[in-house]
Parts: sequence; C-alpha cells; structure tokens
Amino acid sequence: MSFRPHLLAASLALSLAACTSVPLNHLAPRAPTAQTLNTGGTMPAEQAALHFDHADLHFSVDTANQSIDASATLSFTAESAIDVLLLDLDRNLSISGIELDGHSLPAKAWSNPDGRLRITLPATLDAGGKLQATIRYGGEPHVAKHAPWDGGFVWSHTADGQPWVASAVQGEGCDLFWPCIDQPQGEPDLVDTFVTVPRALAAPGNGVLIGVTDEGDKRTWHWRTKHPDTYAIAINVGPFEVLKADYASRYGNRIPMEFWYLRGHEAQAKQLFAGFPRMLDFFEQEIGPYPFGDEKMGVVETPHLGMEHQTLNAYGNNYRKDGYGFDRLLQHEFAHEWFGNQLTNADWDDMWLHESFGTYMQPLYSQYLNGDMDYFSWLRELRLMLRNRHPIVSGNSKTEEQVYDETAGPGQDIYNKGALMLHSLRQLIGDQAFFASIRQLVYSRPDPKPGSFKPRYANTNDYLSIVDQVSGHKLGWFFDVYLRDAALPRLVQRRDGDTLTLRWVTEHGKPFPMPLDVQVGDTVHTLPMNDGTGQLRVPAGSLLIIDPRSKVLRDQPHVEAFQQWTEQHRKRK
Ligand SMILES: [Zn+2]
Repeated sequence: MSFRPHLLAASLALSLAACTSVPLNHLAPRAPTAQTLNTGGTMPAEQAALHFDHADLHFSVDTANQSIDASATLSFTAESAIDVLLLDLDRNLSISGIELDGHSLPAKAWSNPDGRLRITLPATLDAGGKLQATIRYGGEPHVAKHAPWDGGFVWSHTADGQPWVASAVQGEGCDLFWPCIDQPQGEPDLVDTFVTVPRALAAPGNGVLIGVTDEGDKRTWHWRTKHPDTYAIAINVGPFEVLKADYASRYGNRIPMEFWYLRGHEAQAKQLFAGFPRMLDFFEQEIGPYPFGDEKMGVVETPHLGMEHQTLNAYGNNYRKDGYGFDRLLQHEFAHEWFGNQLTNADWDDMWLHESFGTYMQPLYSQYLNGDMDYFSWLRELRLMLRNRHPIVSGNSKTEEQVYDETAGPGQDIYNKGALMLHSLRQLIGDQAFFASIRQLVYSRPDPKPGSFKPRYANTNDYLSIVDQVSGHKLGWFFDVYLRDAALPRLVQRRDGDTLTLRWVTEHGKPFPMPLDVQVGDTVHTLPMNDGTGQLRVPAGSLLIIDPRSKVLRDQPHVEAFQQWTEQHRKRK
C-alpha cells in the first residue's frame, strides 16, 4: 500500500522499523486479483441497486493454519429491480455453498472468476423486494506484507509465543475476508460479528459485546455495530486484557471506554488509557458528540501500526512518546471516528475529507493541550512533507489505490497539504465559521446531540457549499487552488522605491483573492488582495515580514530547496 492509511506519513513510517512483531512468511495460494485488491471506483449498477440492511458474519479463526472458516448471511432490499446479486469476495476463499432465502443454490447459479461474486437469482427481484443470501466460505485470507500500508491479515505472535492476529484492509477493502460491496457507500445498516477462537484468547470486535458462548475449548465472541465503514470490520485475536471505564460526556450521556491490551503491557496501557477522557473531551468540545457513544470508544493493541476501525481503533504505536504530550497515532486514528466513520467520503476521490481533517486534529490537539508553540511546530512538520505534484481532488470517481498512487494521484498530500489548507481556511473565515462548517459536514446539522444524527456520506462539493453558507462568502476560489491545482499559490514581490507590490500567481491563472498580512516596522497591515494584488509603502531599511503569523499556505522556495537537498542526501547514502 505504498504509504497507505492514515498515517502521519514520513515521521511515522520511521516508527515502523521498531515494531516488535512481523507477519509470518506465508504464501497465499494465488495473489488476489486486481479486482480484489482495488476498493471503490465506479460502483456497478447491480450494487448501486441494493440497500444493505444487515450482515451476519461468522468467522472461526485457525491461528495454527492461518485460515478462516466463515459464513456470511447478508440481507438486502432492492432499490431497483435486479436479476443478479453482485458481491465482492477474494476468489482465494473458496465457497462451499450459497443459500438464497433459505434455499440452497446449485453451484452453477454462482461464479467468482476474479473476485466479483455473481449470484444469479432464480427470479427477478423487484424494487422494494428483500433478499437474504448465506455464503459459506473459507481458506487462507490474503496475508498483509506490510500492514497497514499493504493490507490483509497479520498473523503474529506475542513475545511469549501466543497467537496475535489482526486484519487491516482499508487499501484493498472488505472483500479480502468477507463478501461485501467493496465501496465507501457499501455500508450495511447493521453488522453482527461472531468470532470463534481458542478459549485462552480474546476476540474484541466492533460495537457492543452481545455475548460470549463456549463450546469445548472454543469461545465465540458476538459483537454488534451500526453503520460501520466497510473496511472498519476487523478481526482481532490475542491474549488480551481489557481496561474499562465510563466517560461522562458534556452532552449528558455516558460512553463506555475499552482498551484491549496485550497481557504484560499493563503499566503502559494504564497510562495510555488515562489519556482517553481528555482526548474524548477535546473532540466533543471542538467537533461535537462522539458518534458511537451508545456503543463504545474502543482501542485494541495490534501487530500493525494502526487503523481507524470503528469503535475499535487499531493501535500499534508501542506507547511511543514524541514530546507533544499525547500519542499521535492513537489520536489520529481516533479522529477518524468523526472523519471517516461518522462522515464517510462518498467516493475515494473525496478522501481528503477523512485524512486532511484527521491530520489537522493533531496540531489542533497540540494547541488545545499546550498552546501555539506546539501547534505551529506540528504544522511546520507537515509543511516539510508537501509534494504538490497532483491535485488533492480530481473530480472523477477513484479507487483508494489511485488516490495513494504518488505518480498519478495526490498521495500523502491528502494528509499534510489538506491539513495546512484547513489551517489557512480557519485563519480566513475565523474560528466560529470554521468549526461550524466542520460540525455541519460531520453531522449534517449545526446542533448535534447524541441520538440526533446518523453516519453520513459527503463529497468535496458538499463541504464547499457548507463553507460558503456558514461563512457568508463565496470561497470557491480558495478550494479551486488548494484542492484542484497541484501547485501552491505563489506570491510575487516587487519593489519600486518605497512601494512594495505583491501579486498572487496560481498554476492555471485562477483568481486568488487571498488577503495577506504584512508587517512593516511595528505595524501589521492586512492587504485585501481583492484582484490578487496589493501595494504597500515600505520605506527603505524597514523591518518587513510577509504573513508574520503564518496564516497562508503558499509556495516557499526555501522549503523546496530543503526537500531537494534531503532527497539528494538520501540517494547518496
Ligand atoms: Zn488517517
């Protein structure tokens, strides 16, 4: 997955080297097809015709053989007539049988040549009709090479040799281990997960624990969650202990908190867990109610770095500290409960809605905890990582792979550049409008309370309309340059005697009336730059600082010079 998920790019990539466990070398029978490895893109009409009501997923996990024995009972309502049920499932997981509304289908009624499971219905299902399919399958799920960047199952072991298993499939999608609609908009309304493991191990899951049943030396953990992201459904197995507490929300509800940590990590786990309430309070104060308060805020320790699995965030940062006073990985993944899980991008082309906001939450939390020095220090870290080679938003439907492809897509800019853009937006429209725009984006309403909203989809234009509405200004020009151009706006300066002329230049000559602060001597002047230019009297020898409070994201040749130098230095080494 090159630089896939959620991470804070380079700084965190370094930390991978220190991970304690490594997936076992294991060869899947065949590599998954391109169809399976992709997630999202244009949705086939047969899938767009379905409403996904319920998924009932059973997994028996064989840690010794690194395989699963599984069945999935999926319930749909047809929104328009269909003759086939089209699902996504890795063809390496062999199907032993399919039932439709309780009746076994002959093997000729279905095929899965390339990861697209096509089930021919005995009769046309009319609009409004309901359908329940049970698919029995199993085998060796695709093994991640370098999770979470390259997704799949991670079959690992603890230091004392006990199985420690996790899945992470954001880049490839749910079809790596269950039959699903592998699209951002393929979320089922409700998912029940049953995970059967040896009794000595635990299997924490998404949502609420409904019950645990024992049979012989096996234990089945039954979890239930509403509206999970398709890639959020996760398998986690290990010798876990759990820390639990209730969080008293400012909104009056109580939110169960759970941290499933590896036996032996108790002291560090307790320290991390002690930070959960402050983190929750930050998000509830700045953004709004924790979206899944009636389920839980959950975290599980994983043998990979991390992933935003809804109500059970994957945490594999080894309790690392970095001087900011909080765990950046945990805070970033947790931010996705709002930006990713509550608000889901309509298409992966809009993925900046997950990652730019998700990344901006770390500097914002730094400011909340420790003030401006930490906030700007964070932003500065991000600034050095911008690439500016491809626009953040293309305007066309994309697979997740295409977004991360640095040769043709925005790649890491959806994190760092987008976060810096949000900083500039905040300076431009002020805190009140900025946070109001986020609330409207996340909850579809200005006044969210627990129970008054549901997970939603949004695209880039939805957010742009919201910003116009809450700020009272037409700000399309702002996003046209930052999201739809690759290059950053450039400020050209000219001196004629005492007169300083400033002019914005954009990649495609688009207008960019971005106001600009200029400090001359002791005075800060704000130039409106209405037509993209501004003039100011600057007597010779005066102190002159352009944008003294670092409000505007723009091209800075010294940053590029540093990036080039670093790159050359790296190559020489
Ligand atoms: Zn992220």
